[in-house]
Amino acid sequence: MDDILHGLNKAQREVVTSEASVLQVLAPPGSGKTKTLTSRVAYLIAFKHLKPWNIVTCTFTKKAANEMKERIRSFIGEELSKQIKLGTFHSIAGQYLRKYGQHIGLAKDFGVADTSDSKAIIKRIIKKHDLTSEAPKASGRISANKCKGIESAQFAQTAKNVDQQEFAVIFSEYEAELKASNLLDYDDLLLRCCFLMRTHPQCVSNVEAVLIDEFQDTNTVQYDLMSLFAQQRNMITIVGDPDQSIYGFRHAEIKNLKLMKDQWRDTLTINLEENYRSSGAILHAAQTVIEQDESRPPKKLQATHNYGLRPVLRKLPSAAAEAAWLVAEIKRMCALSGGVLQHSDFAILLRSAALSRVIEAALGRDGMPYRMVGGLKFFERVEVKLVVDYLRVINQPNHGEAVERIINLPPRRIGDATVKSLREEASKRDMSFWDLICGIAQGKTRSTTKLNAPAEKGLASFVNVILSGRRKLEVAEDEQISLVGLINLVAKKIDLQTYLKNKYENEYEAKWSNVEELMAQAADASDPERLKALMEEDTLPAVDDLDQRSTGNEDALSIFLANIALTATAETKTEEGTEPVPQVTISTIHSAKGLEWPVVFLPACYEGSIPHSRSDDNDEERRLLYVGMTRAQAMLYLSCPIKDTQKQETTMSSFLTQPGVQLYFEEHGPSMSLATAKGLATTLRREQPNLSGFNEGKQGLDRDEDNYWPLNGEEAPEERAKWDYGKAANPVAAFGASRPASWVP
Ligand code: ATP
Ligand code: MG
Repeated sequence: MDDILHGLNKAQREVVTSEASVLQVLAPPGSGKTKTLTSRVAYLIAFKHLKPWNIVTCTFTKKAANEMKERIRSFIGEELSKQIKLGTFHSIAGQYLRKYGQHIGLAKDFGVADTSDSKAIIKRIIKKHDLTSEAPKASGRISANKCKGIESAQFAQTAKNVDQQEFAVIFSEYEAELKASNLLDYDDLLLRCCFLMRTHPQCVSNVEAVLIDEFQDTNTVQYDLMSLFAQQRNMITIVGDPDQSIYGFRHAEIKNLKLMKDQWRDTLTINLEENYRSSGAILHAAQTVIEQDESRPPKKLQATHNYGLRPVLRKLPSAAAEAAWLVAEIKRMCALSGGVLQHSDFAILLRSAALSRVIEAALGRDGMPYRMVGGLKFFERVEVKLVVDYLRVINQPNHGEAVERIINLPPRRIGDATVKSLREEASKRDMSFWDLICGIAQGKTRSTTKLNAPAEKGLASFVNVILSGRRKLEVAEDEQISLVGLINLVAKKIDLQTYLKNKYENEYEAKWSNVEELMAQAADASDPERLKALMEEDTLPAVDDLDQRSTGNEDALSIFLANIALTATAETKTEEGTEPVPQVTISTIHSAKGLEWPVVFLPACYEGSIPHSRSDDNDEERRLLYVGMTRAQAMLYLSCPIKDTQKQETTMSSFLTQPGVQLYFEEHGPSMSLATAKGLATTLRREQPNLSGFNEGKQGLDRDEDNYWPLNGEEAPEERAKWDYGKAANPVAAFGASRPASWVP
């Protein structure tokens, strides 16, 4: 028992050992909700003798599930801990359906339909009935209904107008087709599992306890799933924080908290009020942001750590300069801390994935190892790879692998067998793949490969795209097309927007943003003046081969592609048996939920980015910023470029310019001083076991210690000055007349 309760405060112990059958723990970030929930699982097994296989524990990400498993393992050992049903809602539902699905008519070997499978089915239905609906919209609507727990038959019954009736047809036929093909889509996994447990409650009769982390982001179906798991014993523990509800756009229902209290009237609520993650200053700044939401009930939150340094708010001339500053700052901190701070202590959290491009480029230039959480690195994203492959082939048509990758992308009805046969033919005739298909398309080569009419047409259209790109490069230097022009040409010729729209529906906008980001990078690469200007800024590291970029566009294209290849391969390989190389984390704020790092950067804090232009829920955007800020333990940097990657002037995020926001506004110079880095390093070096989120041997912030600089002990005068500025009601106003006009809120 001591082990499990060790290091927990009174309220946390109460949660762990509570006899209440239904328990809600509502508490702010960093108050130990996840830690406490995990300890409760271990406690129920070790002291209440619940069988691990009778405990269902749901989290939102695989990473969180793994971390929880690891912690439970440390208390109760490998054997017991691996029997707990612990995972994401989808994975647990999938397990139940594989085991008991036959009772509701599911075959054991059901497949899971991904989004593109679903969309293809919907398209067929629309075509069959000659309907006016658009497939992407219908698909989103089906999912929205399913997430709300509305089934197709139910929808059909209430459908009134023509639009609803038309949609009802699509919905019900879609469902019928999935069933006929023995497929479940993602929503089905949850819905079918609910149905299973409703109709066959005996399959969950063994469940003794249900525990849910991040409850504020559950949707209706997930709520039902939870209730159904708990239907026999009604033993539920949920932990969550309404201030961190950031999945409204995916139909999360914050009212589930109240619903739960209505459903189980004896629900006991315990609040945790102490924050163990962040320094006082970080917490204070985050509070001043979240409190802008006036509809939110006031909450108590107490820091257990020293006040520390006020988070920095920094403006930079451009997105590229912002990325370069951030990389330089990480380097400086690592060096100043005498190696105590490692790359893995830093996270760069982004509102949207497309923002990672400039940052990855800056990290890549510097050779700084990084990893992406919950997403692909920029140059690994399909749409980016696709365009880059076209550029590669235009630059170098004999790049056989790239030709093969894109010959049928977007689909041109050239099948794999045809490609294989063409490849063999080219090899037999000792010519390159490109020369062969180019010859065929232009009627100069008689091929032994049989091509049907559509494939022949597809081949001709592919060759045409490449040749038109090449022609634009082969003209006199002053008439050459720009790199951006070339990307635009490719995008137009292959009708990239339509392709992405049809294939990725809901994700289309994000995918297209990535293509636009690639264009922005191309614009930078072909604008030597701009790059030279950037280089003169003190924060920007040298950019190699700058002058070469202006020598003709064929060269510019080669250099551009070579740089991409460098960025893309700057992977950190780990030899077997060696320690993994510490890596900077890049993540979206959404995927960073529940996690923590000693130093966090939140770049691109401007209107349109956060709050995001495509979001219509300003409060949810603010909560997202709050989630981002509260991931930081010791140091937090917010920044905003004056111009975004598309070179548009920005306006700083209104969340940061409201009166009362407690940040230290910094205009020039390096942010981290030697003394600060040393203070941070000392803090991190302390002994403090059970602090997740730190690397082995590294420790978290201690409370009541005298050497967390600069609050206690000696303070450098210039740092003191920062403090005083920081204490002003408004960080911008603190600069008085000298504040930059562009930053006046
Ligand atoms: P979030 O809302 O962001 O998910 P949380 O409430 O789940 O936060 P945890 O991740 O469980 O918070 O805990 C935050 C940090 O505080 C972790 O590093 C955890 O180990 C530490 N912590 C929690 N409780 C205590 C405690 N009583 N003493 C020391 N450290 C603690
Ligand atoms: Mg948590």
